[in-house]
Amino acid sequence: MKHVLEVADVVKRYGSKTALDQVDVHVKEGSCFGLLGPNGAGKSTLMKLMTGILQADSGMIRAFGMDTRHQMSEIRQRVGYVPQEITLYEKLSAVQNLKFFGEMYGVNGAELKQRIAHVLEQVGLSDRANEAVETYSGGMKRRINLAAALLHQPQLIILDEPTVGIDPQSRNHIFEMIRGLKKEGLTLVYSTHYMEEVEALCDDIAIIDHGSVIAQGSLHEILEQHADQAVYVESDYITEPPQLSSIKRASARGRGWVLESEQPLHTLRDLSQLFAEAGARVHALELVKPSLDRVFLKLTGTALRD
Ligand code: ADP
Repeated sequence: MKHVLEVADVVKRYGSKTALDQVDVHVKEGSCFGLLGPNGAGKSTLMKLMTGILQADSGMIRAFGMDTRHQMSEIRQRVGYVPQEITLYEKLSAVQNLKFFGEMYGVNGAELKQRIAHVLEQVGLSDRANEAVETYSGGMKRRINLAAALLHQPQLIILDEPTVGIDPQSRNHIFEMIRGLKKEGLTLVYSTHYMEEVEALCDDIAIIDHGSVIAQGSLHEILEQHADQAVYVESDYITEPPQLSSIKRASARGRGWVLESEQPLHTLRDLSQLFAEAGARVHALELVKPSLDRVFLKLTGTALRD
């Protein structure tokens, strides 16, 4: 499998603060690659390095086999970057904004006109195309930002937390777009602090925390390698975690307990027996679905949403 992006041993510091520490990331051609991590993890910094906005202190980044230190102008022709900040002129219409961005990328004339119509269609805003951007919702502005990054027909799109603070309709539009772009064969890098988004959209994921990649692979590989198996139990009969040999660790959740277990089916069986013998009232007794949240908790000791 060909890699469109290769990030190797990358270190980036802001003064004395190390924002990225020995980061290795490989993005396969035609895949959607998710960068998952809490605020301040280093996601934006990594994306800015990928797009040549920032330079790494050490390490190497190659895009389409070209080195970002020396061939950035060639790389930029093939990469679309959607920053977190909305960079539109409020008083101008979507078409006028897109004309400006298209020209910046070297698209002009009839071709630009046709590209603008196409990208507006893609983001579902053709009907509002001539209205001033200041009349748009936050989600609509973000969709125009996304449209701007598609004008020059890039092969790789880098999206920095595109769904933060937007309405569900715009979020669905963005999801559909990403799926559509992937179908067309584009490669995408997508950052978020919502694990549901990477679970729904991404083929491969890197979990990043405090500037380091702490897990990387497909969702299945990450869960297989890092997720503990667990049982959730809720019953008035127990005020403390039950003492069973199969239980490795217990933590309180809501009104019950999450019990990590090497053999969750045995734990379920033993608990069922315990409750049945005691005639206890049980509100929940079930397997916990492995999730990236739990992987993050296990690897860092904190919840992803902290
Ligand atoms: P994320 O995108 O995951 O929220 P960032 O890449 O924005 O994370 O930030 C990573 C770390 O680097 C944070 O601790 C942040 O405060 C710091 N940082 C980011 N940009 C700068 C900057 N321009 N100057 C100093 N520190 C910065």
